[in-house]
Order: sequence, then C-alpha cells, then structure tokens
Amino acid sequence: MEKMTIYADNAATTRTSEAAIKAMLPFMTEVYGNPSSLHSAGQRAKEALESARARVAAVLGCETREVYFTSGGSESDNQALISAARIGGRKGKKHIVSTAIEHHAVLHTLDALKKEGFEVTLVGVGENGIVTSGAIDAAIREDTCLVSVMYANNEIGTIQPIAEIGALCRARGVLFHTDAVQAVGQLHINVAEQNIDMLSLSAHKFHGPKGVGALYVKKGVPLTNVINGGAQERGKRAGTENLPAIAGMAAALEEAAANMDSNAAKARALRDRLIAGLSRIPHSALNGDAEKRLPGNVSFCFEGIEGESLLLLLDDAGICASSGSACTSGSLDPSHVILAIGRPHEIAHGSLRLTINAENTEEEIDYMIENVADVVARLRGMSPVWRKLMNGESSFVLA
Ligand SMILES: *Cc1c(COP(=O)(O)O)cnc(C)c1O
Repeated sequence: MEKMTIYADNAATTRTSEAAIKAMLPFMTEVYGNPSSLHSAGQRAKEALESARARVAAVLGCETREVYFTSGGSESDNQALISAARIGGRKGKKHIVSTAIEHHAVLHTLDALKKEGFEVTLVGVGENGIVTSGAIDAAIREDTCLVSVMYANNEIGTIQPIAEIGALCRARGVLFHTDAVQAVGQLHINVAEQNIDMLSLSAHKFHGPKGVGALYVKKGVPLTNVINGGAQERGKRAGTENLPAIAGMAAALEEAAANMDSNAAKARALRDRLIAGLSRIPHSALNGDAEKRLPGNVSFCFEGIEGESLLLLLDDAGICASSGSACTSGSLDPSHVILAIGRPHEIAHGSLRLTINAENTEEEIDYMIENVADVVARLRGMSPVWRKLMNGESSFVLA
C-alpha cells in the first residue's frame, strides 16, 4: 500500500474549517474595534459579539444572556466548578459528586477545591465506560452542592446519560454541570430539555479556532470570577473579548450543527469499519461501549505492547494517533480512564485512540487497519512480555 498521511487525532484538536477562518478575518482587518468602546468602531464589534453569542445560544437551546465567552474548555470547567463551590460554601454544602473519567480540567479543579475543605466523591463507571444515573443518585448527599459529569469522554468516546442525570439533579435540587467539550458539534444538545445548569464547550474541538470557548450558565446561577478586571461578559469574565476567535467559533458551531446528522452517519460507518478491522487483531479489545460512543471515536487496548512505541511507529507510517495515556510529570502513567473501565495496568499501557471524522475515507480506514495490525505484530515480536505470554509463563487477559 502506498504511504498516506492521515490525521486521526480529532479528539485532541481539529482542523479549523474554511467557514470559521472566513468568519474570523473581518475582525482582524476591518472590524477591529474594542467591543467596550463607545465609538462606532467599538459598537460594530459589540454587535458582532452579541450576534455570535445569540448563535451559540441557539445551538445549545438557551437564552443569549446565558452564554459567557471564555478562553476554552479548561477555563469554562474551572469557572463552573469554582462558582458552584462558592454557592455551596455559602450554604455550608461542601460536597461535590463527579466521575472517575473526567478530563483533568475538572479533576484538577476538584483537587484544588479539596484543599479548600470540599469533599469530592468520584463515581466509578461500568466496564462499558458509562456512569449510571443510579450511581450518581446514590452519591448525592444532603450537603452536595454540585454534580459534574462529562457529556462524552475524550479518551474512549462513551456518551453519558446526561438527560437522566439532569432530571435527577433537578429533582434533588443540586446544580448540574457537564463538560460537553467532546459532545458539542457532534451530538444534539438542549440544555433546557436536559436540565443542564452549566455546560462547558471549546471551539477547537469542533473545527473552530483554539483558545476560545464558552460557558453556558442557567440564569439565576451566580458566577464567580476566575479572571478579574474589566466588566466584560456581564462582569463575570474580564479581558477584551477575542472577537475574531469568538466569530470563528460561532461560524464553526453553526456549520457543525447544520451538518450534524449527515456527518455523524458518515463518521459512524467509518468508525465501525475501523473497529471491525482492529477487532481482528488477536488479544485486542475495544474500550468503551460499542454503540453509546462518539461517532468518530475508536479506542483499543492491545495486549503485550507499549502505547508509546505504537504511536511512534504509526507516525512513521503517516498516521497521527494518540495513546490515550496521560504523560504526567515525565512518568508514563496509564490513563485514569482506561483503568476506570477495569483494565489492568499492563493492558492500559497498550492503548490506542484513533479519532476520525466524516471527511476520512474508506481507503484511509483500511490503511489504518493494515498499519496498526502490522505495527502491533512487529512490537509484539520484540516484546519480552509477549514472549512470556506466548510460551505460557504468563496468561492472556484479552481474548
Ligand atoms: C479538550 C478538552 C478540554 C479542554 O479544552 P481546552 O479548550 O483545550 O482547554 C476539557 N474537557 C474535555 C472533555 C476535552 O476534550
């Protein structure tokens, strides 16, 4: 097979769409005023800012004034959690419920809140990578001020029962935040129907520019500032608005929403072809539920190999992939998500994430299947762990 170049890391970031770039340019060339300025150049910028806000709100199913622009998913997660903690703290409610598979933007913010005296319950997920609303229900206490559950997981793509959890939190009078960074632009979301009080999104995950995102906050829920300064964003997020990026984000989101169903159908068909192909590799397993997963997410564990060497060899073959294991402080710890679905450490080390989209082709999928199979076989041929498995000194975990 001739060498191809394939970007299969869309969960890390996406290519900025033509529509987004086109929408950004006028705000760097003609309409460069500061939206806070009273003159006409400022007012034109202000109008564009509010138009972008209305368009983001329309896709989420909320009111325009419930959308706050931020620098991205991490900032939105930080502000949502800190705000809920402040609200709870004032009422003596210092317990937070979240899950074991959250993004570090949530987990590390929770760690910071723990140092302030908050108690955190991280609810586990099943082998399918999905938390049940029953488990969330059981974790909620009298002093719980917040439930935060991600909409879809960034490593294994599993989609969580957000509407069920939203209804539960509403019934029990607890604030509900969802990190929807992987879901926005890919799945139908309606914050009102799903009883979501706060939602984080990030433009660069849906073909918008990097460094911009939004936080939806239901009206009446008081936000705490994370960035202090000017009165931008209704006084809740200081700093001159990144208008080019915000305009690009709105355009990218509208485009994603308009094409959502057709893109999802195409991506799903390609995803399932890739899953079927990789499943033929012996002693391998798909991570996460086969159906309740993002249209473009493929995550596998291969027994007897190291994810990092797999990535390097795939890169040589022109394939940009991810291991799914977080590289923390220089040491290669296996991913907390892969461990949370019950994979042992040695299996979690051999994980691979390929995140594709509707623009990929069947030829690219087949190229990836062939190359992953080839690289896995080569690495196993050099692996002492594999040799022990083969000669019966240790036994296989994956069928
Ligand atoms: C990418 C991502 C984030 C962080 O978003 P940034 O805009 O890169 O800060 C947070 N949560 C999830 C689930 C993500 O995939």
